[in-house]
Amino acid sequence: MGALNINVFNPVRIHFGNGFISEAGKIAKKYSDTALIVTGKTSMQKSGTLGRLVKILKDAGVNPVIYDKITPNPTIDEIDEAARIAKEKRVGLIIGLGGGSPLDSSKAIAVAAKGNIPVWDYLKTPATEALPVITIVSTSGTGSEVNRYSVMTNPKTKEKPGFGYECMYPKEAIIDPEIMASMPPYVTAATGFDVFVHVLEAFTGKARNAFSSAYCMQTFYLLKDNLIKAYNEPNNLEIRGNMALASALAGLAIDLSGVGIIHALEHPVSGNYPNVAHGAGLAALVVESMKYNLEACKRDFMLIAHHLGVKRAGKTDDEYAYSLIEKIEEMLKAINLNIRLKDLGVEKDRLPGMAKEAFATMGFAAQNNPETVDEKEALKLLEASY
Ligand code: NDP
Ligand code: MN
Repeated sequence: MGALNINVFNPVRIHFGNGFISEAGKIAKKYSDTALIVTGKTSMQKSGTLGRLVKILKDAGVNPVIYDKITPNPTIDEIDEAARIAKEKRVGLIIGLGGGSPLDSSKAIAVAAKGNIPVWDYLKTPATEALPVITIVSTSGTGSEVNRYSVMTNPKTKEKPGFGYECMYPKEAIIDPEIMASMPPYVTAATGFDVFVHVLEAFTGKARNAFSSAYCMQTFYLLKDNLIKAYNEPNNLEIRGNMALASALAGLAIDLSGVGIIHALEHPVSGNYPNVAHGAGLAALVVESMKYNLEACKRDFMLIAHHLGVKRAGKTDDEYAYSLIEKIEEMLKAINLNIRLKDLGVEKDRLPGMAKEAFATMGFAAQNNPETVDEKEALKLLEASY
């Protein structure tokens, strides 16, 4: 710890509570009379949430335009297409409805709809203005509902970078646990594990600070009691609510302190294999990455183990720190995510390219990792996780 310069800023107004989506019309109306709803292809239609949102908006005098073609691990083609529609229809507001993929997209669309360049170019050209964004989150995972980040894939090059400018913060986030109850077990597991990796990496990373650590510690407590239960009791709204809080707190933590090597390595995985769920990619990489970071994170791992309820009982410091890795393996088994990269369909000969990409597109995350890591070591981690 002990960073000398700490900059804390997060302007997102957070509304949390069961049924809160009913307020979406009133909230949207503050910003515009026309909104582009950005969502995925199936889940929000099937659960009835999209239809409900449309009605809520219309009742409040907000005219909704729907873009429902966002795929998991969204592409820049989808984002540019939606931005074109936002311009044509002259919408004054973007509403992201869904998991991290639609929410990330909504922020990128908000930027691209204001400018005249393809969204990919904003990786190099900083954006200073964006349409206002409201997020209505349906997974408990990415934290995208409350942070400024957007992750997008270039389908030609398979690069999957993240970016985030101050103008991309959502204005308001609606966190309504009832919307999350329809998540199937695999999505609950993968997105829930994403939360753990966010706090693991924010809590141990070089850019950690007292503010993000506070978010992380509360998140560890919430994960201890709720991650596995959410998997086993999908309709328990109290547990869904706790996971939703964990997701948001972890989202605030990474907004302040970033992620590390696990995320840097995962983006090339789901960038090259878009059918891989982000959280599943993380699950395949976490154990070897934690072993790699063990020496640098001994005290932190002990603290996290304590927060997750691991008994110390006569263990030496080294043993107690290592017991966190065993705890995580146990947790992964309980949610059926004890997997390897080959289980996700990754081809072995692609690993060297992926090690390179981790630094090309996620260099800031690799640099934030507690233990120094270079391309050669990154490749070793990928191979050990295969
Ligand atoms: P997605 O948004 O990709 O959704 C995964 C799947 O779950 C989709 O098939 C989706 O269906 C379905 N789904 C979502 N919500 C529900 C629900 N309530 N009920 C039933 N099915 C549901 O998953 P994530 O939330 O994990 O987002 C992943 C993306 O976020 C990745 O691109 C990742 O890189 C990025 N990310 C962003 C971060 C940030 O800080 N901004 C941090 C970490 C990851 P459908 O497609 O039909 O909607
Ligand atoms: Mn993540």
